[in-house]
Amino acid sequence: MPRCKNCGNYKNFACSFFSSTAPTANPEPYGLLANFDEQGNLTDMECLGATLDEAQEAFENQKNYFNTCANCGGNDIEW
Ligand SMILES: [Zn+2]
Repeated sequence: MPRCKNCGNYKNFACSFFSSTAPTANPEPYGLLANFDEQGNLTDMECLGATLDEAQEAFENQKNYFNTCANCGGNDIEW
């Protein structure tokens, strides 16, 4: 399961490959977010700039895509 070595977050991760197309009122800078449960299973994703195809690709390659901690912004993720 993914875990941020910096803050210990294991639930919310972001993909830095896609930038957010959301309005600037939204402070979230990432184009794709994912939530994980306690077992490390991806439970849901939020597309804020990524297309559905890109989200599918990320779902199949989670380790490569979700490289950023959505909690602290760190990119030292342990899988
Ligand atoms: Zn973190």
